[in-house]
Amino acid sequence: MKSRQPTPVDLTATSPYGTFFGVSQACFDQVWQTLTGPKGQSVTYVSMEIGADRDVYHPIKNLLQEMGKQYKLPPDLSPLANKFLHGPEKIPTYSGGLGILAGDTLKSFADCKIPVAAISLLYRHGYFSQLVDMNLGQVAWRREWEPEAVPGLYPLHQPGNPDQPLTVTVDFHDQQDQPIQAVAQVWLKMEIGSGLDFFVPEILLDYDIPASPEWIRKSSHQLYDSSSEASKAIQRRLLGAGVLPVMRTLGLTSDSIHLNEQHGVVLVLALISEILHRRLGDDFRRLADDREIMAAAEEAARHVVYTIHTPVKAGHDRFPRSLYHGLEHSFFRRILQLLAEDEQNPEAYNFTALAMRVNRATNSVSRLHREVTRTQFPQFKERISAITNGVHHLTWISENKAQVYDSAPELAGWRHDPSVFRQADKLLKSTRFRQAFATAWQADSKYLIDHVNAMLAEHRQQRISTWIDPPNYLSYLDEKESRLDYRTFTFGFARRFSTYKRADLVFEDLDHLARILVDQQWPINFIYAGKAHPADEPGQGLIKTIIDIQEELYQRTDGLARLVFIPDYDMAVAKMMVAGCHAWLNSPKRPLEASGTSGMKAAMNGVPNVSIMDGWWVEGYHEGQTGWKFGYEGPVNPELLSEQRAEMLYSEDAASFYETLPDILATFYQEPEPAAYLDRGLMNLALNCPIFNTHRMAAEYVARYGLDLPQDIAEQMAKFRSLYRSDLE
Ligand SMILES: *Cc1c(COP(=O)(O)O)cnc(C)c1O
Repeated sequence: MKSRQPTPVDLTATSPYGTFFGVSQACFDQVWQTLTGPKGQSVTYVSMEIGADRDVYHPIKNLLQEMGKQYKLPPDLSPLANKFLHGPEKIPTYSGGLGILAGDTLKSFADCKIPVAAISLLYRHGYFSQLVDMNLGQVAWRREWEPEAVPGLYPLHQPGNPDQPLTVTVDFHDQQDQPIQAVAQVWLKMEIGSGLDFFVPEILLDYDIPASPEWIRKSSHQLYDSSSEASKAIQRRLLGAGVLPVMRTLGLTSDSIHLNEQHGVVLVLALISEILHRRLGDDFRRLADDREIMAAAEEAARHVVYTIHTPVKAGHDRFPRSLYHGLEHSFFRRILQLLAEDEQNPEAYNFTALAMRVNRATNSVSRLHREVTRTQFPQFKERISAITNGVHHLTWISENKAQVYDSAPELAGWRHDPSVFRQADKLLKSTRFRQAFATAWQADSKYLIDHVNAMLAEHRQQRISTWIDPPNYLSYLDEKESRLDYRTFTFGFARRFSTYKRADLVFEDLDHLARILVDQQWPINFIYAGKAHPADEPGQGLIKTIIDIQEELYQRTDGLARLVFIPDYDMAVAKMMVAGCHAWLNSPKRPLEASGTSGMKAAMNGVPNVSIMDGWWVEGYHEGQTGWKFGYEGPVNPELLSEQRAEMLYSEDAASFYETLPDILATFYQEPEPAAYLDRGLMNLALNCPIFNTHRMAAEYVARYGLDLPQDIAEQMAKFRSLYRSDLE
């Protein structure tokens, strides 16, 4: 980026739909031409959520800041640039791993110049924000946000008519098949590549406008609104049924549609219907028999690539058939009867089954998850392959670590090519590098712990001045006693609070844990964060459990162990935690964590993982090198899919953790220096960063898409693929 130094004027582009900032006109035109070209050589990526907060990663802002030091911005550009530098940066419309994976994937597509357009929804009430109260546990509240104020999020206007917003109409149908029109305003966000010479448009549909019926508007407000089954089903349909109309309106011609999880799958009903229309003419609904519908489904399937993300029941949509009487045309319901049958419940449609049936390739998100998915869907076994997830390294590597990586000639080019981190094992022998790395790690730890201490101080104040009982026992102690020290070994644990992630696992036997710590006088911090979906009561119970354990843990260990909960987990908190902790803890019940991505973020910051052998860690664990494993690692069988507390292997896996913990702490507290501990961090970087990044993952997807790419890009993709094959048996 530094060598490029374009003048800022380069970075404005105008199209019939509006004026955009961040890429040149030539770049904009070239990308748009590919996306709308006659050959269909692009991909439409459909996702319920996209997480890409700009306070965590923002290539243009970096450039502007860089230039701000050297240039005076031309006055006509100042307002735009100013908005970019100072506008709100959070778009709170993601809930967790699925959305952040989508954001990371799109950023890598942009960096690698893969022609993709994403389609998602714009939720005016976002996802919920989290307060945590000592007595009540999680309290959900609604954070209003203003899409209009967010830099880089543009309401499109009608071609040649800047006063009229661009809208698309999506038909719902009542019981008599009469159309009910939902209307969405079309927004554009650009995920701009790190070279500022390519972008992936995210097209966001906003149904909360006066032209839409009230019940539609309401269902569009909050991501994963589960106030009713109807609301949930409508929200899925707002995504899926919007795909073809918005593609047609903008002229997007993608031959392949990628379903990031099955939420938007009803789009295949429209695909099938179009094919039948072409084959049978206007009267196709009356003329088509089951055989013809199935043949059309087969053709539609050639355009669909499907990623399944979880073996957990809550991740698979099943809705009562009766609901669809007021939503879907009777002809679409006929297709659903043929293709979305639920084996357990004849009164329901199963949308995972529909997605499984209508695609040309299905992939799981890790090798172990492939085995689980094949066990769950034996009838589609042949088609299910693995593409292990990754994370976007430019987003997740801390500023301090990035500077150290920049300073090592062995790692030259790491921003464009994360495979160079394979050289990091050589750096293990460089005293200079080790020292610089250790210093950066310490700075990241200090940043995290300073944040926690400031939060505790603020909570102490809140106790006095508000009705809130803040969630941390430490803020009920006096300031001197309750501060954390950044040199103390610190576990980070942050993720959605779902029961299968077992946030409370390591506290299963407090006696045992306390004995280990007190015996050796090992101090330890546990820093936790995460939201539970407001309808997930057991998940919220787990947050309360973590809060409730704090005092006892502190007392039994004479203050050696300090457990802190950071409320309102988001990408910024995640980035601070994965870089600043000393080990990233992951304790799901195997095999329910399909992949998990936060541990990959730790790996690229050179932080070891301590994890159950589940999801990606089965592939990322190297004994004695990348971190530690614990817990059950036997074969995957259907009984293990249970999410019942009694069958969650709490005591076995916790016992295994207590067996492992002394080695971790002894390695960390080694005198005079934790050399072996640093080795593990650096080996986690060297062995796992080259693989578990979204550039490599994008390259594997690109092979599935079958795109005709310019030669240099195709070669780069082939190179990333040559480093790893997720789908090895
Ligand atoms: C990375 C991330 C997740 C996903 O983490 P998992 O380990 O896959 O559970 C969820 N939320 C946020 C804010 C993240 O940054």
